[in-house]
Amino acid sequence: MLLPQAFATLNAAAAPAFPRGLLAIARGLYGGGGDITLWSDMASQSTIDLLGRLLAFDTTSRNSNLALIAEVEAYLDGLGVPHERVTDVCGEKANLYATIGPADRPGIVLSGHTDVVPVDGQTWSSDPFALLRRDGRIYGRGACDMKGFLAVCLALAPEMVKADLKIPIHFAFSYDEEVGCLGVRGLLEALAARPVKPLGCIVGEPTDMQVVIGHKAKRSLAAVARGAGGHSSRAPEFVNAVEHAARLVTAVTEIGARLAASGGRDELYDVPFSTAHVGVFHGGTALNIVPDEATLEFEFRVLPEEDAEALVAEARGVAAGIEAEMKARDPRTSLEVRIKSEFPGLSTDPSADIVTLAKRLAGRNDHAKVAYGTEAGLFVEMAGIPTVICGPGSIGEAHKPDEFVTEAQLAACEAFVRRLIAHCSA
Ligand SMILES: [Zn+2]
Repeated sequence: MLLPQAFATLNAAAAPAFPRGLLAIARGLYGGGGDITLWSDMASQSTIDLLGRLLAFDTTSRNSNLALIAEVEAYLDGLGVPHERVTDVCGEKANLYATIGPADRPGIVLSGHTDVVPVDGQTWSSDPFALLRRDGRIYGRGACDMKGFLAVCLALAPEMVKADLKIPIHFAFSYDEEVGCLGVRGLLEALAARPVKPLGCIVGEPTDMQVVIGHKAKRSLAAVARGAGGHSSRAPEFVNAVEHAARLVTAVTEIGARLAASGGRDELYDVPFSTAHVGVFHGGTALNIVPDEATLEFEFRVLPEEDAEALVAEARGVAAGIEAEMKARDPRTSLEVRIKSEFPGLSTDPSADIVTLAKRLAGRNDHAKVAYGTEAGLFVEMAGIPTVICGPGSIGEAHKPDEFVTEAQLAACEAFVRRLIAHCSA
């Protein structure tokens, strides 16, 4: 089954006269990156099969993920792997935590989220919830972000079970990551309370198998200006909600300009400074009415070494000043600011053991930092678990129509996890 399918893929890829898998092995031996381990450009059939099963569940964050969790539990039961759920308050969603190897010793966590972003409004060439394998790529919603990583972990679970693990390997599969890293917090509270804490965690978000040691913190805020409306011919007698809310927009823009000009810098980020951004503004119904309501949403993405809370406080302070002026003219008016979502940044010491281990497993010496957020910062902040990010696929392919992960990336991730198994059983 594997070979005909594999060669069909290779023929479609046209260029090389040799099977790409063999070329890859040659590169591994003679060319590539100082890592002598053999690897192939094709994912194993068990990874492909498991990824197909995971993709079939529509785990868009608004949906329950319990059917997927039950499927994973049944699979782990078949291997005799113990697991537990940490559910949300309604019992509609769950984190799954599994342990392979000695549970009384600190282990390594392989972590990923089970939810995906919506396909609403996107044009897909194929069913986003059915695996499509074509030209060395696997298509499907979540193939890249990040069911591909989960599939690799699960596909190698039988090898973990067979290995005589001295250091346990844990799976931490969460929910509601895509809506503000909400779900994993319950699991981390539980882990933080345990006597034996993991040595480290690898979050398998798509990094092209680069070792990522930092990401920015985020604060998302929403504001509502409630003015006092009336006929626009008598505008000065009323309190214009749009005009007052717009002053807050301007203040956020100015904070962003200041951060770019004189804030902290870290050139390892593609945008090497903290940023501010207004993404939503609504207000007014007709030109001849002084608007009585305006709403906006804005965010700060903050270098982990900078103070995100200070920026929130600054925005709140500006809003309080504007509100005071509004109330002076009409005490029924207001300008309220609230936090919509937040997560901490990640700043793992490049010399930390988990970084050294991840580099060894990935066969590379460099590390990177990324602008997008992940659950990694929460593992450090809530549970004190040293964490890096390293997973298959490119973030550039995530969240898009026709999302895909290459088989070469899945194969590289399989090699990474196999080296982890060897490390944990040595
Ligand atoms: Zn993700």
